[in-house]
Amino acid sequence: MKYIEHIQEVLVDQNEIDIICGEMRKKLEEDYQNVEEPVIFLGLLKGCHPFMSDLLSNIEVDHVCDYMDVSSYFGNEKAVSEVKITKDMTMPVKNRDIVIVEDIVDSGRTIKKVIDLLYFRGAKSVKVATCADKPSGRSVDLVPEYAGCIVPNEFLVGYGLDYREKYRNLKFIGILKDDFK
Ligand code: IMP
Ligand code: MG
Repeated sequence: MKYIEHIQEVLVDQNEIDIICGEMRKKLEEDYQNVEEPVIFLGLLKGCHPFMSDLLSNIEVDHVCDYMDVSSYFGNEKAVSEVKITKDMTMPVKNRDIVIVEDIVDSGRTIKKVIDLLYFRGAKSVKVATCADKPSGRSVDLVPEYAGCIVPNEFLVGYGLDYREKYRNLKFIGILKDDFK
């Protein structure tokens, strides 16, 4: 497999990813059984792509999909942070139930900004579904309602996670070797 020699350790393999997606899909189906209006699954580009595709495959929830691209810049000082919306979603969110779909929640600052914005725009509810959760990196008060796996404070690639736009296609999540950074 291309890039396999760049990986120090596989943390979540293909089989575990399939289980994560299946279990989370089931929970979403239970929680959003009887919605008045279709749920909006809001993917954060570009990392959401493989996870969102697998998670929502044949899901039995009345829903629509939309996307947002958010760029984050965090200075060395933890307090200095800038989260910019580089591509906004297209659907109105007033009175709608929204589930944000993310590859990973690390500091939580990106998601927090998006949650605040969606409530500011009048969303009825906003929840977070992330494939990986890195709670040791957290700098804001945020607990994703749906988290596939807990990962350590390492730089990870694969299954949406990139290093300089590479490795998103891998169907596993692994630690990138220092030689390739
Ligand atoms: P935040 O720190 O929770 O705001 O995370 C912002 C974004 O950083 C995530 O959506 C990911 O795209 C990226 N990110 C966080 N941790 C990793 C990682 O270990 N590898 C690759 N990207 C990451
Ligand atoms: Mg991301």
